[in-house]
Amino acid sequence: MSLPSLQPGTLYLVATPIGNLEDITLRALRVLRECDVVAAEDTRRTGQLLKHFEIRKPLLSYFQFNEARRSEEILDRLGRGEKVALVTDAGTPGISDPGERVVRAALAAGWRVEPVPGACALVAALTASGLSTDEFHFVGFLPHKSGQRRKQLELLAAVDGTLVFYESPYRIEKLLGELAEVFPARTVVLARELTKKFEEFLRGTPAELQAVIEQRALKGEFVVMVGGEDSPKPGSAR
Ligand code: SAM
Repeated sequence: MSLPSLQPGTLYLVATPIGNLEDITLRALRVLRECDVVAAEDTRRTGQLLKHFEIRKPLLSYFQFNEARRSEEILDRLGRGEKVALVTDAGTPGISDPGERVVRAALAAGWRVEPVPGACALVAALTASGLSTDEFHFVGFLPHKSGQRRKQLELLAAVDGTLVFYESPYRIEKLLGELAEVFPARTVVLARELTKKFEEFLRGTPAELQAVIEQRALKGEFVVMVGGEDSPKPGSAR
């Protein structure tokens, strides 16, 4: 079967692994091999990924703080008919990362944007959580300030279905404390270190999970999910 070649003036959003290097698709590898340039959130990190797959490609950095300027460079390259692969540090570009603004800028300038789907922490966590996937609300990262976080959580109490948050390991205890106040009786699932050696799913009420965290410091990356009001009651935290 002959595969279609990449199209000039297209921004390819290439999903990369969220921990396990086997979670990269054949198509992602082909796009990375055949593009003109790889636009990366962190060129050092993406450089390691490309090296692992023996791909040599010019890298362009567009990390969050110079994103406005760098997205112009991406637009210039698209204008010259280049095929640009955009990758973020991990997972699907555009989900809670700086990819979103580049996509908007490319579309506003009239360029084609094509997804190359693959790993995404949200989908991996939700599908194995045991919570409802019929209806869910992706929140991503809450604001840092306590008052704003609390206000947003209180508003989310009225939302049906499973709530999905991304959280840094430094704020996981704080988030569980807030969930214990706003959602004391709900089932919470912590998905930690997805696709990595120490992957685990912890299930319980916020207070049960706080007790687990008190016994052992939990490091790594987390997706935090809160079951809807009618979700099944939690089993043991494991
Ligand atoms: N675009 C990415 C995606 O497709 O999931 C997410 C980028 S966001 C900047 C990073 C957050 O995703 C982390 O703080 C964590 O909440 C979540 N995450 C990424 N990798 C993860 C993993 N292996 N296990 C658990 N959570 C992860």
